[in-house]
Amino acid sequence: MSELASENLEQIQIFYREAFQRYQERDSVPEIEIRFYPYVSISHTIRARGGKIYVRIAELCRTMPLLAHKALAYILVGKLLRRTVPAQAREIYSNFVKQTEIRTRAAENKKINGRKIVGSPRGEVYDLERIFAEINAVYFKNSIPKPILTWSAAKTYRVLGHHDAAHETIVISRSLDSRKVPQYVVEFVVFHEMLHIFHPTEYRNGRRYNHTPQFRRSEKKFRYYAEAENWISRNASNLKKTARQKISKTKIVKN
Ligand SMILES: [Zn+2]
Repeated sequence: MSELASENLEQIQIFYREAFQRYQERDSVPEIEIRFYPYVSISHTIRARGGKIYVRIAELCRTMPLLAHKALAYILVGKLLRRTVPAQAREIYSNFVKQTEIRTRAAENKKINGRKIVGSPRGEVYDLERIFAEINAVYFKNSIPKPILTWSAAKTYRVLGHHDAAHETIVISRSLDSRKVPQYVVEFVVFHEMLHIFHPTEYRNGRRYNHTPQFRRSEKKFRYYAEAENWISRNASNLKKTARQKISKTKIVKN
């Protein structure tokens, strides 16, 4: 599966090169980086920076047919270069989106009816939306698309935070919504979950890699990294006491 995905990405890359060549009527094309991004909706971005082109395609479109990827390449590159996009490209792509929107809505309905209960980002002490916005500005140049942010229903202590890419949700343990918990700890857990959006899961040889070396390097950039790690390890047992006693696992992990 990972093989197929990387082959696809290579093919998609060719579409973007083709589009540049076609619009600019020359063979040389800029360096292009393409990544799938867990945008909440079907939206994509294309940017030119320092002579390099950055394309972010909505995760929802990862598995769209190559023909639709080709159409999207012509649309995005056309937009960047302010050229008229071929009508056929628009048509192929919009047909795909219509189908996807129907499927997405179905999945969302399932989410509402299913076990996934989304709470509020505003806790008694900390507001996750405010924390997210600050971290996004300070560490990510506001590049992280806002996911659903919510406190967990229960005061889980084993998992302090969780990023669910399928539902585009960051859940933070309610055990951290307390005056006893320093703000930098909450910020650090939110930062960690945001890094999961910034460094999406890598698939190699059928295995998933969440905390890659790049991920760990980025994590250390948090201003209070050492303090936060320290606080979490020192307070693991306190968090445990405030949590439901039923749960028997005691390891603190950040997913
Ligand atoms: Zn993690």
